Amino acid sequence: MTIRALVWGENVHERENAVVAGVYPDGMHNAIAAALNEDDGITARSTTLQEPEHGLTEEVLAETDVLLWWGHAAHGAVADDVVERVAEHVWSGMGLIALHSAHFAKIFKRLMGTPCNLTWREAGERERIWLTSRNHPIARGLPDHFELEQEEMYGEPFGIPEPMETVFVSWFQGGEVFRSGATWRRGAGNVFYFRPGHETYPTYYDANVRTVLRNAVHWAHNPAARVSGVTDAPNIPVEVALEPIEARGPKLHADGEEGFR
Ligand code: ZN
Repeated sequence: MTIRALVWGENVHERENAVVAGVYPDGMHNAIAAALNEDDGITARSTTLQEPEHGLTEEVLAETDVLLWWGHAAHGAVADDVVERVAEHVWSGMGLIALHSAHFAKIFKRLMGTPCNLTWREAGERERIWLTSRNHPIARGLPDHFELEQEEMYGEPFGIPEPMETVFVSWFQGGEVFRSGATWRRGAGNVFYFRPGHETYPTYYDANVRTVLRNAVHWAHNPAARVSGVTDAPNIPVEVALEPIEARGPKLHADGEEGFR
């Protein structure tokens, strides 16, 4: 069975900006899905913000192994209950790949728990991306460094929690550096952030970038069955404790109550 990838696209710039529409006439999400579908081991489709429930219903997420997220102008338009639903799927084992300006997506900030802020400049600078973890599965088949002739600059300090692994760092013509590829585990879910992908440049047609996307889907895929009840917090009564005990001391909670959230 192939890995089921879903590319979520905000789909705003492509419809409202002529430059972006010219670079990505079928939408950025479909360009990214096409890159993934070049891999026989991946079946990728796409959905957008404009779909009911942003295309991220319980049924859709249950059949998604790895979700890729591109958002920028409309982070605030993503409904909080959908964000929480996606987070629970990540905790239960779905992979998540946050792309470029998804550093400020609600779902990424929810999972990181930090501001995820950075410095930035839109000046068409050359970006040189260096492997910092040569044997990492996400770097498979890549040279030790590669370049994108024009990209937006993202610079440190990047307000993320310390990554599990840093796979790439970028250098920009203006002198800044940035942790461009970083991994985390959240519950049973694998999370990868990949920096390149500003909408006015043809970044998602770059062969090395497409290799990273495909490698990242394989890395983020957790083949184990989803963990159920990831947010449950059950009260375990005295009577069913694994060793015989007697309740003692004062009590705040009634037997069997749900507890506070
Ligand atoms: Zn950008």
